[in-house]
Amino acid sequence: MSVIGRFAPSPTGPLHFGSVVAAVASYLQAKSQNGQWLVRIDDIDPPREQSGACDSILKTLELLGLHWDGEVLFQRHRQDAYQEALDLLSSKKLIYRCNCSRKQLQGNAYPGTCRLKAHSSKQQHALRIITNQTPVNFNDGIQGHVQQNLENDVGDFIVRRADDLIAYHIAVVVDDAWQGITEIVRGADLLDVTSRQIYLQRILNVPTPAYAHIPAAVDADGKKLSKQHHARPVNDDQPETILFLALEFLGQQPDEVLLQGNVEEIIQWGVKNWSMKNVPEKATIEI
Ligand code: GLU
Repeated sequence: MSVIGRFAPSPTGPLHFGSVVAAVASYLQAKSQNGQWLVRIDDIDPPREQSGACDSILKTLELLGLHWDGEVLFQRHRQDAYQEALDLLSSKKLIYRCNCSRKQLQGNAYPGTCRLKAHSSKQQHALRIITNQTPVNFNDGIQGHVQQNLENDVGDFIVRRADDLIAYHIAVVVDDAWQGITEIVRGADLLDVTSRQIYLQRILNVPTPAYAHIPAAVDADGKKLSKQHHARPVNDDQPETILFLALEFLGQQPDEVLLQGNVEEIIQWGVKNWSMKNVPEKATIEI
């Protein structure tokens, strides 16, 4: 089976170092196996998007020599596919309307408050999927074995938001399947949501890709670098240095002489020497 990897940024700001590391790792994992590497723009949440972010992200990837295969897929064009998935869940009687406010829930596992309430479709409501006690297990390529009991640890989770926007988990699962993604390499901040995605894959009857979660880059306070928290964007003037630092972060021990090379040479070195085994098995690394 040929390998297909992907990088799927949300256009909420320019790329910061943590997202570049995810791009580099997913690229090298695919290309070191002669696979394809796709780029998808996860633009399903207009209120969080920043104008110009998409162009900036794609420009940075090009400057870093991370050339994607095929056309970029934009999730905003995929609404019909997401609705189809919701219809399937609905036909299996696995979703219900919920009008609990975030405040009411206080961040704990959702206790299933609205499961039996049958709210009218006229009231504003989110849609939740019914979870159960069967543990979801998977072996992460970097972080090892993960097990989660969705009903206890997460509760019935949202598949369509109260503002009618599709939930990230549905969009990501539908598109990973549609694009034939075989390996997902992304930041460890998403390790915790992977069981939800695997649960959806099983219900939607699509294959589960291999997962590998690289350590998330955090600042000195342990906070994840994120576009929302205005992490410093990577400097487009120094793509060679950024690539070199990304390889170091990923435990690949790049040769110092590479710093005199150009972007193509560094990427080639990365493809040739990439070893997922060398990526530190940590949830975070301070930079
Ligand atoms: N779009 C998501 C983000 O930027 C990542 C999606 C994924 O890798 O599954 O956080």
